Amino acid sequence: MSNDVFHDEPARAEAVPPESPLTRRDFLAVAGAGAALVGIGAPNLAFGATPFVLPPLPYALGALAPVISARTLGLHYGKHHKAYVDNLNKLVKGTPFADQTLEQIVRAAAGKPAAQAIFNNAAQAWNHAFFWHSLTPKGGGTPPAKLAQRLGEAFGSTEACVRELAAQAVGHFGSGWAWLVADAAGKLSVTHTANAELPLTAGLKPLLTIDVWEHAYYLDYQNRRADYVAALVGQRLNWAFASENLG
Ligand code: MN
Repeated sequence: MSNDVFHDEPARAEAVPPESPLTRRDFLAVAGAGAALVGIGAPNLAFGATPFVLPPLPYALGALAPVISARTLGLHYGKHHKAYVDNLNKLVKGTPFADQTLEQIVRAAAGKPAAQAIFNNAAQAWNHAFFWHSLTPKGGGTPPAKLAQRLGEAFGSTEACVRELAAQAVGHFGSGWAWLVADAAGKLSVTHTANAELPLTAGLKPLLTIDVWEHAYYLDYQNRRADYVAALVGQRLNWAFASENLG
């Protein structure tokens, strides 16, 4: 493979040219035949049973620059996300979890101390797949009309929602995620979770997420999480994805 970012040598991902298009075909080729494809199709993340495969990014590594550089995305996706998928496959092999979908594993392992490592890796595999789709190269702007109306009902305006999402993303202490969610009654709100935690296990439907682990922004912004979040919510949020998830 000439441009894959799957090898374990740290230098490899950094060697990916900034605008190198990493195609679906490349990933499938790397993934190998016979493995269950982890399908990502908005709005549902239809993960098959193990062995899980790192799902393809919905855009090229350089497509989110300069908000997120190709170098950051290459490492974040090709190293961090891939490691969660690989670790999960190792951890569930030979266990009852091996026959479950990713979402089933997340729900079954949540809150069980004996399954903490499985939960962490399964949830992070899910969170990252969801995060890539929460972003889009020409993001931000005005949400689809139905979503905009729901945001208005919940927050007063789309802008107020974005301010709250950014505030929680910046204010979250340590590693974690900020989310736009819908509750069982369909009311929208913003929340944040620590480490690998996700709203699914609290009965909430995720619509969008922002990764605020330092690995998401440190190469590009160092300690300036607020700058990363401001650029991301202003220019890269995928409102169409959120709208599809809302249903
Ligand atoms: Mn991450």
